[in-house]
Amino acid sequence: MCGIVGISDHPEASKLAYLGLYALQHRGEEATGIATFDGTEVHIIKDRGLVVDVFDAEAIASLKGNIAVAHTRYSTTGSSNKKNCQPFLVTHRNRPVAVAHNGNLTNTEELYRKLEDEGSIFQTSMDSEIIVHLLAKTPNGDYKQWFVNVLAQLKGAFSVIFMVGDTLVGARDPHGFRPLVLGKLGDGYMLASETCALDLVRAEFVREIAPGEIVIIKGSKLESVFLPGADTAKRAQCVFENIYFARPDSDIFEDNIYLVRKRLGAQLAKEAPVKDADFVMPIPDSGVYAALGYAQETGLPYENGIIRNHYVGRTFIQPAQFMRDFRVRVKLNPIHDVIKGKKVVLIEDSIVRGTTSRSRVREVRRAGAKEIHMRISCPPIVSPCFYGIDFPSEEELVAYGKKIKEVADFIEVDTLEYLSLEGMLSVMKNGANFCHACFTGKYPVHIPSNKSKYLLEGVKKQA
Ligand code: AMP
Repeated sequence: MCGIVGISDHPEASKLAYLGLYALQHRGEEATGIATFDGTEVHIIKDRGLVVDVFDAEAIASLKGNIAVAHTRYSTTGSSNKKNCQPFLVTHRNRPVAVAHNGNLTNTEELYRKLEDEGSIFQTSMDSEIIVHLLAKTPNGDYKQWFVNVLAQLKGAFSVIFMVGDTLVGARDPHGFRPLVLGKLGDGYMLASETCALDLVRAEFVREIAPGEIVIIKGSKLESVFLPGADTAKRAQCVFENIYFARPDSDIFEDNIYLVRKRLGAQLAKEAPVKDADFVMPIPDSGVYAALGYAQETGLPYENGIIRNHYVGRTFIQPAQFMRDFRVRVKLNPIHDVIKGKKVVLIEDSIVRGTTSRSRVREVRRAGAKEIHMRISCPPIVSPCFYGIDFPSEEELVAYGKKIKEVADFIEVDTLEYLSLEGMLSVMKNGANFCHACFTGKYPVHIPSNKSKYLLEGVKKQA
């Protein structure tokens, strides 16, 4: 995953970029960075940690200039060391070039080998560095042609923002895997992964960057150009953005995420009702919106039977297993007086490894639940993602190769049911436009046959 922000033509570019990142913190808690350009000098601060920890007022003030590009990182490729923080910055022909990237490329190995054969030397293991090398190697007179030539070489998922001197460039791959939105901010523009970032700084939503579109923004002038195949490529918007990843107050993929999740819950209620349940209860926060939809559809009462400690980050973002377990324990607390003796419909957005769900279920059981009927607002996740969601290998996915009853036994619930694929897609706006490879193994963009080796990390280990 990752969150990206770009600001053009604004005297407080770094502050606005910082606020944009703050709104997109849920897209990655591992590292963050902002680069700006003041017409003469480029400024950059990036480090591991949360947005509030990496930047203070002094740091933001030192990032001078009217243009900014910013990034918050959740590592899916590349190790989590400091060198891999973005934006990735180089100087090319006396011009600073900074790039912030969200998504995973699928032809990384091929491009990496080609560039190395041609003499490129790599400092990091990030897809973004490959893009910068391609930029440097491609003839670059007219910006439109330059970016078309570079980005046409990439395969897989990319929503990307560049700062090239005083020009801001934003682009989305032709399949449109990851979101990218455009806002108007005074005389200039703002680009961001999600509209919640625009809302925070009161930028006016203009539109989504279209799949395969490249926008080139200089000051208050915006030009648009399309990659070859943009009109014919099959749309493959990531359905997991809608299910879990994006913020519910964002509008992406032409829909509002809060409403999408409520519709998922309502559809789940139609497909998987529970007879004589006492109430519907979410695992917070991820299950809240689907649980609301489920309760409204069935007429069952809705209870917040588990309370979340809001000062703990997302559990799965912690890399070490011992930290994950610890955080699971401190994050959520069930209310005994609400749950004791009750037949509960427990709603969660998805199950990945199953370990978090199992420990939640154990706590609800410990709080005295008589029966726990778990309902999941998406189908079983059975295939890894190669386009930017950090799903583990098949073996680690609890539903892979298992019957639903076996997953239910693992999670320790009385019954377990998932939303169907058809049901899930039926409540999306233009369901045919979504990638659902994690549920079906049908990958819309070719994955190299030796799947694990395509990652740059793998390439480096072999070298
Ligand atoms: P678990 O029961 O351990 O599979 O955890 C399930 C919860 O973690 C659900 O709310 C998932 O949506 C959430 N989650 C989302 N993305 C991931 C991920 N990449 N890896 C693990 N868990 C994730």
